[in-house]
Amino acid sequence: MAGGTDGLGERLKAYEGQPASRAGTGKDPVNLPMIRHWCEAMGDTNPAYEGPDAIAPPTMLQAWTMGGLSGNTARTGAYDEMSALLDAAGCVSIVATDCEQEYLRPLRPGDELVFDTVIESVSARKTTKLGTGYFVTTRTDIRIGEELVGVHRLRVLKYAPAGRPAKAPPRPRPVVNRDNAGFWEGVAGERLLIQRCTGCGTLRHPWLPGCNACGSLDWDTVESSGEGTVWSYVVMHHPPFPAFDPPYAVGLIELAEGVRMVGNVVGVPYDKVRIGLPVRVEFRRYEDEGGGSTLPVFRAADPLGALGVSGGLGASGASGASGAFGVEA
Ligand SMILES: [Zn+2]
Repeated sequence: MAGGTDGLGERLKAYEGQPASRAGTGKDPVNLPMIRHWCEAMGDTNPAYEGPDAIAPPTMLQAWTMGGLSGNTARTGAYDEMSALLDAAGCVSIVATDCEQEYLRPLRPGDELVFDTVIESVSARKTTKLGTGYFVTTRTDIRIGEELVGVHRLRVLKYAPAGRPAKAPPRPRPVVNRDNAGFWEGVAGERLLIQRCTGCGTLRHPWLPGCNACGSLDWDTVESSGEGTVWSYVVMHHPPFPAFDPPYAVGLIELAEGVRMVGNVVGVPYDKVRIGLPVRVEFRRYEDEGGGSTLPVFRAADPLGALGVSGGLGASGASGASGAFGVEA
């Protein structure tokens, strides 16, 4: 509602002017090691930040007052209360939108900073591309003793996320180029082709124009049996890409022919994938408006064996669940 006259807006307005933190102190005095790390990270070689008369880069202002992972002990209840009101109204997401700083005098190693933060303003309800919510601006006054040395304003949008698009976007297609086109042509025909150097016979994957072993640019292909084992894997949880449905396991598969290939591991719960798990290639179709694509995935060849395995090492290809590695009775 315009003008912030909705009920929630009025309650939020009441927090304007309330302290968000009071008499906070910097965790460390302004110091050269932090200045040096900052300048290295930023690639800032200004000589003013070095040597016996060094000053701190002004934009480090917030670095001296941040609470770190353990949090800011000077917080009052007001900011948390206001956040809880917003959460309860569905505005559960937050994004920092902009920051404004004023520098009143240079900071030098040894300066000990104190600060107070106030909730300066809460906007009327706004609808953005991200969703509908309220912009909250806090102002932190930073002092040395009684002297105001800097001001840091931070604006965040606390909002109810706009609904997801009704239809999930199509799965991104593999990037096909001149070097790997043959591989994807093979996959489209449900064949897993490995490049072979015709100079020295070395197999290689991913596809490359030349041989790393002998430098030859001549090659042909061999068709993989599609049998392999999980050589390594990760389980994707976050960030969730709209076309995918986490969690899922992505394996680096060592094929029987000796080369390794990345692909999703299927046919077994994501948390049962183990190193050494025997797998076999399977080709999956993904439809989209542009003709779709086919991708190789790797299906657990012995999911029951996999389910019986505990610990970091999976059953070996030959011995199934009764191998020497970490098998529960
Ligand atoms: Zn070669």
